[in-house]
Amino acid sequence: MIIAIDGPAAAGKGTLARRIAETYGFHHLDTGLTYRATAKALLDAGLPLDDEAIAEGMARKVDLAGLDRTVLSRHEIGEAASKIAVMPAVRRALVEAQRRFAEKKPGAVLDGRDIGTVVCPDAPVKLYVTASAEVRAKRRYEEIVDTGGSADYDAIFEDVKRRDERDMGRTDSPLKPAEDAYLLDTSEMSIEAAFQTAKSIVDAALSRNA
Ligand code: C5P
Repeated sequence: MIIAIDGPAAAGKGTLARRIAETYGFHHLDTGLTYRATAKALLDAGLPLDDEAIAEGMARKVDLAGLDRTVLSRHEIGEAASKIAVMPAVRRALVEAQRRFAEKKPGAVLDGRDIGTVVCPDAPVKLYVTASAEVRAKRRYEEIVDTGGSADYDAIFEDVKRRDERDMGRTDSPLKPAEDAYLLDTSEMSIEAAFQTAKSIVDAALSRNA
């Protein structure tokens, strides 16, 4: 069973993916971390972010078992990740690793931008989780403030919009819902309600496959 969850930055897809994976005992991969790990390795080595061959070499060395969300969540790493994510050779390398992960038994939940369209186009469950840019920026702002940090809402809002433009506007694997994806707009929906909707879709797919 493969569950593909896509959507823009800060839409809540990571939280949803983790909860679904826990509920069903499936493996979970946040594919954004694979782009982030590649970008961080380049930054740490003082290598350029605009050389496709060098970036591909780093992408091929990424160890999916060693992805650390806390270390990789830094804002600059996210920005760098979205820059190298436009490179087809980087995407090819990471997509190969992601497809191997998707084969794990008894099932796998993958979240990202192109899971339902490119990585696992045959996944029996595809969700496209979204929310307005304002709501996503507000959630990110509150997350930072709630954990004791300081944040500037306007700057976060501009960031969210810039990241959307880059992710939706690139030529290779742009962010968009797969034709057969279930659209889950969480702008006016609690995480709990989104989870219950997702769960009923997964349950229906599991009983079809049984
Ligand atoms: O989801 P996250 O913010 O961690 O992703 C970082 C960047 O990696 C995204 O802005 C996007 O450019 C890229 N990405 C991608 N395809 C994926 C997952 C992430 O291009 N499947």
